[in-house]
Amino acid sequence: LLIYLNGKFVPKDEAKVSVYDHGFLYGDGVFEGIRAYNGRVFKLKEHVDRLYDSAKAIAMDIPVTREEMTEIILEALRKNNLKDAYIRPIVSRGIGDLGLDPRKCGKPSVIVIAQGWGAMYGDLYEVGLTGVSVCVRRNAPDALSPNIKSLNYLNNILAKIEANEKGGDEAIFLDHNGFVCEGSGDNIFVVKDDRVLTPFTISNLKGITRATAIELLDEMGYKVIESNLGLFDLYTADEIFVTGTAAESAPVTRLDGRVIGTGKPGPLTMKMVEAFAKITQSTGTQ
Ligand code: PLP
Repeated sequence: LLIYLNGKFVPKDEAKVSVYDHGFLYGDGVFEGIRAYNGRVFKLKEHVDRLYDSAKAIAMDIPVTREEMTEIILEALRKNNLKDAYIRPIVSRGIGDLGLDPRKCGKPSVIVIAQGWGAMYGDLYEVGLTGVSVCVRRNAPDALSPNIKSLNYLNNILAKIEANEKGGDEAIFLDHNGFVCEGSGDNIFVVKDDRVLTPFTISNLKGITRATAIELLDEMGYKVIESNLGLFDLYTADEIFVTGTAAESAPVTRLDGRVIGTGKPGPLTMKMVEAFAKITQSTGTQ
């Protein structure tokens, strides 16, 4: 496997960064998660744009242009002969000293890892995921905005640990007011009485799959309503599904010991899973 590291492709074993890189010392950096299906990169421009927006929000200049980044991502696939892949661009603040000050860091480090990848949840797409609402809260938008896809994913990891301990497949985050935000790595949708609802993006990552889902649902005649949602709305939903680059579109059929709807993936969720598979196979950059 060849990995892009600061200007060149190097073998996996040689793809190393300094212990003084502030990405390692402080989680100071940003990343993306992108998928390629059948040799085509899904929503490449959207992911590259979000990477640069995340960098802008943490006042970091990515030392390659968007066009160069796009080409590096495509080259990472070509060099490794990958058709179905997960691609992880990472830009960290770079090598500094042990202090926090980013002014001491030289150039940001740019890394792109691409590797083979299949469906994340295996058999669970048919039975549905078990969700667990967790105590750890999503970052508040006034602090480290959840819209920044930063290398600081500790609260997401804590959420995952909590879900693991409670036997769940995915954690559901609430914000500090108790409103539902999203999963640890995916956005959430609720179907109730033929209406589809999803939380506002102020409290969660503006998911690219979320945006795709909204478009697909629109084509199916459902206008998705952005709304504040509480756990009550989730427990009493007809259907719940999550969307994300890694998860794609996946049903949630159990949450905190409650059965959601019939306990089986609902009809609209299944239509979404199908529509999503179709769009990922038929569009994308190569
Ligand atoms: N929420 C979080 C916290 C994520 O890390 C991700 C994954 O990227 C998502 C949601 C889903 O976003 P996307 O559909 O752009 O992958």
